[in-house]
Amino acid sequence: MNGLMMQRQLLISDLLTHAERHHGAQEIVSRRTEGDIHRYTFRDLAARSRRLAAALAELGVEPGTRVATLAWNGYRHLELYYAVSGSGAVLHTLNPRLHADQLEWIVADADDRVLFFDLTFLPLIEELAPRLRGVRHLVLMADREHLPDRPGRLLAYEDLVAAHDDGHRWPEFDESTASSLCYTSGTTGNPKGVLYSHRSTVLHTYAVALPDSVGLSARDTVLPIVPMFHVNAWGLPYAACMVGAKVVFPGPDLDGRSLHELQEAEGVTVSASVPTVWQGQLEHMREHGLTFTTLERAVIGGAACPPAMLRELEETHGVTVVHGWGMTETSPFGTASTLKGKHLDATPDERHTVQGKQGRCVFGMDLEIVDDSGRALPWDGRTAGHLMARGPWVVSRYFGRTDEDPLRDGWFPTGDIATIDADGYMQITDRSKDVIKSGGEWISSIDLENIAMGHPDVSMAACIGARHPKWDERPLLIVVPRPGATMSPADLLALFDGKVAKWWTPDDVVFVDAIPMGATGKMLKAPLRERFGDHLTEARTTPAPPRPGP
Ligand code: ADP
Repeated sequence: MNGLMMQRQLLISDLLTHAERHHGAQEIVSRRTEGDIHRYTFRDLAARSRRLAAALAELGVEPGTRVATLAWNGYRHLELYYAVSGSGAVLHTLNPRLHADQLEWIVADADDRVLFFDLTFLPLIEELAPRLRGVRHLVLMADREHLPDRPGRLLAYEDLVAAHDDGHRWPEFDESTASSLCYTSGTTGNPKGVLYSHRSTVLHTYAVALPDSVGLSARDTVLPIVPMFHVNAWGLPYAACMVGAKVVFPGPDLDGRSLHELQEAEGVTVSASVPTVWQGQLEHMREHGLTFTTLERAVIGGAACPPAMLRELEETHGVTVVHGWGMTETSPFGTASTLKGKHLDATPDERHTVQGKQGRCVFGMDLEIVDDSGRALPWDGRTAGHLMARGPWVVSRYFGRTDEDPLRDGWFPTGDIATIDADGYMQITDRSKDVIKSGGEWISSIDLENIAMGHPDVSMAACIGARHPKWDERPLLIVVPRPGATMSPADLLALFDGKVAKWWTPDDVVFVDAIPMGATGKMLKAPLRERFGDHLTEARTTPAPPRPGP
C-alpha cells in the first residue's frame, strides 16, 4: 500500500523559491571582482536567476547541457547555481587554480557548451578560448563596460540578465535529474567527474544544515570562504537558501586581513574553509592582536584541523570549531565533529580530543572501516582500516565512465584510512597513498603533522615516508618555520616524546620555505616525496629507529 502524501520532487529551484517567499528581505553581500561591495536580497537573487534562466534558454541551453563557471564566490555565481540547475541543465564549476591544460581537458570531458567567467580570468580565457572548441558561448560575469575592446565571441552577463524579464517559471522534472558536476582533483591520474542530482543535493543540504552539522539557521550570517568551485562550497550556497541565512561572499580576496574585515563588518557568525586559509587568518590576527566579535562557529574541513588551531580558535577567540570530513564523491559532507550530550561535562582537553576527530555521521551518511580483504573492523577508536561510505549523496558511478563500478559491496571506498570509536566518531589517520609504512607497520602522517603544528615556531608541517634501507620507509618531517623562528630539528623531535610510540618519531626534519599546495588548498605530498624521498638514504644521519611494531 502506498502512502497518500504529495509526491513533490526535491528540486534545487524550490530552495530558491522558498528563500524568496519566506526570507525575501534577507541580505546577500558580495565583495566583487570589480573591487566594490555589492548588496541585494534573496528576492533580487530569485528575480535575477529567473531572468538568467530565460537568457540561458535563448543561448541554446537545454536540459542536460553542461554550463561551466570559472568564478570566485559572489552573487552572480550564486545566480548561476540556481539558474542553470533550476533549468534542468548541469552546472560545472571549474577550479581556476588548475593548469590551463587541465582546464582544457576537463571542459572537453564534461562537454561544456557555455562558460561563464569572472573578470579576473579574462586573460586566461583569452588564452584558452581557441582550445575550447565545444564551448559555444563565453560570458564575462560583469557588465558591457568591462568587455575588452575587441570582444570576439564574448558576451556580457549583465546584458543577458537585462534582456529578459523575471516571468520565467521553473520547470518541474524528476528529482534524479543531474544538477551539477564537480571533478576530483586528480592527484592520481586524470580527474573524474562526480555528477550530483537534485535529490542528492537537496538531501545533502538538509544534512549540512542540521544542528549536529553546521547548524545553520535564519539567525546566522554565513561566509563561505571555501570556493564555490570546491565541491559547491560544501553545500552552503544551497543551505543558506534552505534556512534563510544571510550570506557574505568574499570574492577573490582570501588573505587574513580581507577576511577578518569582512567578518567583522558584516557580523559573520559562521565561516568555512580549509585549514591553510584559517592558518593565514589566525596568523594575521595574532600579528595585529585581533579577535572575533561575532563569529560563533568555524567550519574546518578538506584536510585535518591541527589541534593547535582548534585550541586557538576555541580558547583565544571563543569560537566553536566544527571539524568536518568529506570528499567530492560525498557531495562533500560526510561527518562533523560536534559533541554528544555525554561530552557536556567533559574537560576542555577531553572535548578537544573529540572535536579534533573528523566526526560522526548525521542520518543519510553511513561509514564503515574494513581490512584489505573487505572484512568489517571493530569501532574501538584504535583499529585503522579502509574507510567506506554510503548514502543518497555518495557517488555511484563517475561521469562518462558508467561501465566502471567504483563501489565494493554497495560501499564507496574513500581511499582514506581511519578509525571509528564506540560513539561513532571517525578519525582519519591518512589517505592510503600518504600512509607511512615502516617495517610493515602503518604510521599516521596526520598525527605527526598535528604534533609538529603544536610548536609555536611552525607555520606548516608535512610528514612523508622517506625511503629507508632497513624499514622500507621512515617518517620525515618537512617544516615551514614562522618568520624569526629559532627552533632546531632536535627541539621539534623532542615534541614527540610521550605523545606517540617511540618508533613513530620522525627520523629527521628538513626546513623549507614553502610546501606545494594543490588547487583546493591542500598540501601536495607527491612532489615532497619526489624531492625528499631519498633524504634519509642520502643524508645518512639516520639513527637506527627503535624496533617498529606494537
Ligand atoms: P581532492 O583532495 O582529491 O581534491 P576532495 O576535495 O574530494 O578531493 O578531498 C577529499 C579528501 O580530503 C578526503 O578523502 C580526505 O583524504 C581529505 N579530507 C577531507 N576532509 C578532511 C579532514 N577533516 N581531515 C583529514 N582529511 C580530510
